[in-house]
Parts: sequence; structure tokens; C-alpha cells
Amino acid sequence: MPLQYDLVVPQRTIFGWGRRREIGDLANSVGRRAFVVSGSRTLERSGQLAELLDLVRGAGVDAVHATSISHEPEVADVDNLATELARSSLGAGDFVIGIGGGSAIDLAKAAAAMATNRESNSVSDYLEGVGRGFAISHPPLPVIAVPTTAGTGSEATKNAVISSYDPPFKKSLRSDQMVPRIVLVDPEFAVSLPPDVTAHTGMDAITQLIESYVSRRAKSISQMLAIHGLQNAIWALTEAVADGRCQWARETMAHAALLSGVALANSGLGLAHGVAAALGSICRISHGLACAVMLPVALRANQAVCEPQLATLARLTGTVRLEDNRAAAEAFIRRIEELVRALKIPPRLRELGVRQEQIPTLVRGSHGNSLSGNPRDVSDEELHEILRAAW
Ligand SMILES: [Zn+2]
Repeated sequence: MPLQYDLVVPQRTIFGWGRRREIGDLANSVGRRAFVVSGSRTLERSGQLAELLDLVRGAGVDAVHATSISHEPEVADVDNLATELARSSLGAGDFVIGIGGGSAIDLAKAAAAMATNRESNSVSDYLEGVGRGFAISHPPLPVIAVPTTAGTGSEATKNAVISSYDPPFKKSLRSDQMVPRIVLVDPEFAVSLPPDVTAHTGMDAITQLIESYVSRRAKSISQMLAIHGLQNAIWALTEAVADGRCQWARETMAHAALLSGVALANSGLGLAHGVAAALGSICRISHGLACAVMLPVALRANQAVCEPQLATLARLTGTVRLEDNRAAAEAFIRRIEELVRALKIPPRLRELGVRQEQIPTLVRGSHGNSLSGNPRDVSDEELHEILRAAW
């Protein structure tokens, strides 16, 4: 096959412990007025949000705290913020800063796109597989993404995941133009994250690294990034959970999340993410936890078709040196099962509050971009069986 690919990455990435203090100069390099979208209240309580706003203003940029969000963004969150931005007599020099977990960054990216794309007042008309199928045709406002949790990798992706609970769906707003202009990753932000959030967001990153590696749309360049992220994350996550102040573990996980974002933006995902979307919109299970529960299930479902890839992951992550692909792939899956157990992730869907009668709805809700990247086709009947066994 001829070698060819498109690679989409942020224009500039700044990574390092304590480097959040560089936000002023970075903001100044992008524009004159910043609309700031922030995540959890912890950022406000700890004074970190105020510090960031001061640094931006100190660099001569007008900073407006537009909104904060503490849940995964819904259609109305995007519509309200985009309308507010669109009414602010937007012009050259306006941009958005998203600081927080994946929810804040996804909201920032989606609102930045919807503020300049006004063919419809609702983002639902632009989401994959719902609404009127509109596309992002005008350049979004530039975005600076400042992730504070090590998980979704949204800082490096070209989509924003938007939820609805009535009707239930979790779908992406997607465009190559939505990749943040600047990514500023300061792993020190994560020091204050509680152990369960660290475990769930970290498992999201690990799931993204593995699923993008075995995805049917995988590309060699993003596979290299996935291996590098996984090699270290698989050892660092339990350490980050046990000792939140461990600089090595926090750096490793923040880097793994960033690399997982680049990898998934250029490769796609798979079964675990497909089902996680349905678990989020139908059973309101947080994304990271849903991924953590579904990853071992997805690996077992795909084991037979991606033994060579799983064997490679086993060898490159130092899990096992076995020559035999079958044995090495099996050892890799066991390593992941062991990791999930060590993180005290409930192994069964019913322990997350999923009711057995919800399984058919979950099957229908799992289809979409993620599932289409799975290394093999999964029929509705088979998915039903897989979820029933995982229940
Ligand atoms: Zn994810």
C-alpha cells in the first residue's frame, strides 16, 4: 500500500511543570480579548483561576471569565455560550481560553466554533449523526487549551463531545479547524486531583492510547505516540493515584493524555469508547469510569483479530518478552485487567448502576464514530451479548 496520511496537531504545544505562568505571553501572541471557560470550582477556590486571569491581563489582554462548567457539556451549554460570544461584537483578536478537564476544553472548543458558525442557533444541527448535518465552514475563534486533569486529551483533538439526555446521545462536533491553536500543559495542576478522579481520567487516556493503536484507522505516526504514552502510563497511573504529589507520575500521565489526544485525533477509537458514550448519555456514568470498565471487555472482544498489535504492546510496555503472539497478547490483556483491579474499578456494569433492561438501548446508543474505528465489525446481536456478559 502507498504511504500517505494527514496529520492534524496543535500549532504550538508547551509542556512542563509550573509552566502555567507563561499563559500571559501566550495569550498576547494570539489576540487582544480572551473569553475564559473554566472547569471545576477547585480552580476558583484554589485561586488558580484568578492567577491565570491576572497573568493574561498583565500581558495586556482583556480577559473575560465567560463561564464555568462542572459537568460534561450539553447542547444548551454550548448554545448559550456561543450566543453570548456571538453577541460580543466579535472581531480580529478575539479568542477563547479553555482551562479545566475535558468538559471545559470541549465546551471552549465547541463554543469557539459555534460563535462563528451561525447557520443554526443550535450545535445539535452540527453534531455527527443528529440534527441537520451542518458543517463548520467558517474558521472558529482561536483556542488556547489548558488541561488541568490528565485524561481526555481534548487539548489536542479536533472534536468536542456534546451530550444530551433527552433524547439521550453523546456525539461529536468535529472539524480539523477545531484543533486548539496553543496547548499549555502544566502537570502540576493535577496535584490536587483526588485519587478516584486521577484513576478514571488516567484510564481514559490509557484506553485512548490502546484503542487508537489497534483502530482500523490507525496510522504509524500516531501509533508511535501511543506506544510512547502507554509505555510509561501503564506504570505511572497507580503511582499518581497512590501519591498525588509525585512529579514523575503526574508528568507521565499528563504527557500520556496529550499523546492520546494526538493519537485519537488521527486514528480513531473503538468499542470501549463507543459503549462509553452510551453509558454516559443513557446511564450518566462519567466518561473515564465508563472507559475503565469497558477497556478489558473491549480487549477480550477484539483479542482474536488484533493479537499481533496487542503482542507488540505487551513487548514494548515491558509487560512480557514472549515470542509467541498469542501468549503475549494474553499477557497484555491480563496486565490491563490487573491495573483496573488495582485501581478498584468495579468490574461489572451493574455495579455502576446499569439496569439489565437498559442493554438494548445501550446497544443502539453505542454506534458512531468511535465504534466504526474498532478493529472489527461488531453486530448488534454480538454487542448485546458482550454487554450482557459484562453486566
Ligand atoms: Zn476518552
